[in-house]
This record gives sequence, structure tokens and C-alpha cells, in this order.
Amino acid sequence: MQTYKMFIDGKWEDAANGDTFETKNPFNGQTWAAIPKGGREDAERAVEAAHGAFTSGAWPKLTASARGHLLRRLGDLIAENAEHLATIEVTDNGKLINEMLFQLKYIPQWYYYFGGLADKIEGAVIPIDKADTFNFTRNEPLGVCVGITPWNSPLLLLAYKLAPALAAGNTFVAKPSEFTSASTLEFAKLVEQAGFPAGVFNVVTGFGADVGETLTTHKYVAKIAFTGSEGTGRKIGELAARNFKKVTLELGGKSPHIVFDDAEIDNAVNGVISGIFAATGQTCIAGSRLLVQRKIHDQFLEKIVNLAKTARMGDPLLTSTQVGPVTTPPQLEKILSYIDIAKGEGAECVLGGGRPDNPELSKGWFVEPTIFSGVRNDMRIAQEEVFGPVLAVIPFDSDEEAVHIANDTNYGLAAGFWTQDMRRILKVSAAIQAGTVWVNTYRVISYMSPLGGYKHSGIGRENGIASIQNYMQTKSVMISTAEDVANPFIMR
Ligand code: NAD
Repeated sequence: MQTYKMFIDGKWEDAANGDTFETKNPFNGQTWAAIPKGGREDAERAVEAAHGAFTSGAWPKLTASARGHLLRRLGDLIAENAEHLATIEVTDNGKLINEMLFQLKYIPQWYYYFGGLADKIEGAVIPIDKADTFNFTRNEPLGVCVGITPWNSPLLLLAYKLAPALAAGNTFVAKPSEFTSASTLEFAKLVEQAGFPAGVFNVVTGFGADVGETLTTHKYVAKIAFTGSEGTGRKIGELAARNFKKVTLELGGKSPHIVFDDAEIDNAVNGVISGIFAATGQTCIAGSRLLVQRKIHDQFLEKIVNLAKTARMGDPLLTSTQVGPVTTPPQLEKILSYIDIAKGEGAECVLGGGRPDNPELSKGWFVEPTIFSGVRNDMRIAQEEVFGPVLAVIPFDSDEEAVHIANDTNYGLAAGFWTQDMRRILKVSAAIQAGTVWVNTYRVISYMSPLGGYKHSGIGRENGIASIQNYMQTKSVMISTAEDVANPFIMR
């Protein structure tokens, strides 16, 4: 049993009231760590520390190149500790070690990329139309930025926010999910080791209602970068708007995955299976609505059922496991209730549909890979985010119908389709309303490529060069070279 402390102002601290909460391993239900249950007071202290570090001390005096150097050093430390961090994440969220090791080995790239960008942020000289005036712009940091993350990929989703925020010269308060706080606290040790000044990066652990809301409303907080559910995103957006705080919201999805009749079928089968069953379906970009052209529908359905049937469920720390548990007990209940809803709506359950009866898995929070055929797009199973290993299969006839069904959702985070026809690739990728469209592949992310949602899937984009703008504001400086200041009563 491990006991963690929070990281505030460069110090390791318990919650002000001494409370802790338990974190459990989704594979066996065992409590493995105690996490400080921070509250309002702790959140305020962290914001004040970040504000202090932003306004005085070593951080604002550092050159942008020195900030970049620190970020790259942090990247190196993550790379050195990738296995340790990946193991912590698997113990906390039950995702496969293969996937988390891949993530942890990839995360340093965010710190290298944005570290490299830190000293390439330039202002402009404006050839202004005013006489005797010199005008230039400065890109300045915002101040204290808050990152609130969910439980599915804690350190990856933190990297999307933290790397550009620090590169731009901000300070940061992280609030990880109450279900997976340990890896962010382990990560804070590396931030300390890298040599960032105290207060530049802080972690407050605790629950959304008290820690999250305090961070969202504090007067010193300039920006909130949030990844999580649509409901929480709406609350954060409303609170932030009241105080004109900037937000980036990365929310849920119900992504369409389309297979046209000219697709390379075996590749499409692999893509569809990984799109929904990787990470036990607990990814915002999960291809949870499968649209199959009617001509190949039955053959394709048979192939995916046959492949999904072979998925090895088990200990996520074993590299041979293909489907792990879901991360939290409420999530398990939610997935099972959606399976019931789908059955009640008349969808046909052609695979899975419950908890596995293997006694070795009985202590973990497992759900079988589940496939429903005969789904209509107006059913709840096709419209609402399940966030689990549940695929809804919908037939279609024409390209127009596929695009119509794909777009007939409140969400717009991602989409994928499989075809060999170039004209179709260009037309359909333009017509789909989603922030990312994959063609003949699925679930590819990069620090270089913008990620974010259309419609209810969010506001703003993370990753890519432009995302650093989310953490900066532009100041226009005008300097007069005129000898006299003329007429005080009119605008110049
Ligand atoms: P969640 O919204 O329940 O929680 C996310 C975070 O918000 C947690 O840290 C939580 O403590 C905090 N929080 C809760 N209430 C809050 C409040 N009132 N004020 C401030 N913070 C609050 O989401 P979750 O269940 O942890 O994650 C699953 C969701 O995340 C899914 O909907 C999924 O689609 C989404 N997600 C989106 C992306 C993306 O990039 N778009 C990536 C991963 C996950």
C-alpha cells in the first residue's frame, strides 16, 4: 500500500485537513494507494503558489530558450522512467501495459516538441497606417493555467496541456481524476528533478466538486484546459464564461467508423476491432458506431465477431492480454446498463453482452467485448457515449446515407472510413463533421497534429504548433515618435 502526497509550491504535502481517499486496481479490486483528499483550501494554495511563481521568482526571468531546455530535460526523465510510470497507470486504470508503455515512451515528444517551440514564439512589427508610430506585438503567457484530466490516459492528456503551457511561460496546476491520481504525482517527482522553480507546476488531488470547481473559479486562474465528459465540460464552460476565463474543452464522442464495399476487408476488420476494443473502449475517439455498406454487411459482421471472440481478457500487466478491465465500478455499471438499454431498444446482441463468467476475472471490473447489429442511428446505443467495449453496427446503402448517419449526432470528435477510391476519400473526408478523420487507419495521434471536437465534442484544439496559441495572449505596443501630442479631444 503506497501513500502519496500532493505537490504544491515545490513541497510534498498532505491535504490541509489530513483526509485521504483510496485508489483501487481495476484488475483485482484491491486498494493499492492512499491519495490526499485535497479540498478548497489546498486548491487555493496551489493557485496562489502558481500565481506567485508566475509573477516573481526565477520563472519569469528565465529566457524562453532556458524554459525549452527544462522541458526537454523533463522529456528525457519521462523516457528514463517510462516503464515505472506505465506500470503505475496500468495499476490505476487497468489499461493494457502494451498501450501504456507505448504512450509513456511517446509522451516525451510533447516536451521535446513544445520545448523546441518555446524560443520560436515571435511577435510582429505592424506596418501601421499611423504617422510617427512604431507598432509591434508581443505574445505573452496568460498566467496560471489549470489542467483537469480524466482517468483513461492521465499523463498523455496532461502532456497535451502542460507542454505548450510551460513552453509559453505560464505556470500550471494539475488536477488528475480521483480514480487515477497516482501517476500525476509520480510525474511531479520528475518535474522537481528536472529543476523547474517551485510553484511552476503543482498537483492537487481530490474530487471534481470541490477541487475542480475551486480551480475553475479562482480569480488568479486565466485558463482551464479540460478533458473529460460532456456534462463536466458544460459546467466548467459555464463557470469559466462567467469570469471570462479561457477554456479548451476536449469532451466525448460517438465516432462513426465507416466501411465501404471497396475496402480492403482484412485491414478494415483490424481497424474496426482496435477502434472499439482497444483500451476496452474507454477512449474518447472510440469508433463506437460501425457503418457498413449493405453489400458487405453480413460478411463483415461475421468477420469482426469471429475476431472479437478471440480477444484474450486478463491481467492488463501481461503483454499477452488483449482486453483489460474497465477502470471504475461506476463505469462498469454504466456499460452494463447501456447493454440493457440496447437490448430493450431491439438491437440484436451478436457477441458478448455481459460480464465474463471466467472465475479468474471475477474480482476485476470486466465486460465482454460486445457487438450489437441491427442498430438504428436514432437508438440511444447509437447516440450516447458508452465509453466501453460496445459496438453498434448500422447498415447503409449510399455514400450520402453514410455521411448523413455519420453526422447525425451531437458529437464530432473523430471518424474513420475504409475505401480505395480516391474521389470518395476526398469527398467523404470533407463532408464528415469531426475534428479528426482517419482514412484506411484508425486511432492515430501525434503531438504534431491538431486534435479536438466539432459540436458537443469540445472547444479548441490540442497538439500541433497552433495549440500553443491557447496559452498566450497578444499585446499590441504602439510607440509615438511625434514631437507633439496634438488635439486631446479626438481619437488619433
Ligand atoms: P469526468 O468529466 O467525470 O471527469 C474528468 C475530470 O473532471 C476529473 O478530474 C474530475 O474530477 C473533474 N471534475 C468533475 N467534476 C468537476 C467540476 N464540477 N469542476 C471541475 N472539475 C470536475 O470524465 P471522466 O469520466 O474522468 O472521463 C471520461 C470522459 O472523458 C469521456 O466522456 C471521454 O469521452 C472524455 N475524454 C475525452 C477526450 C478528448 O480528447 N476529447 C480524451 C479522453 C477522455
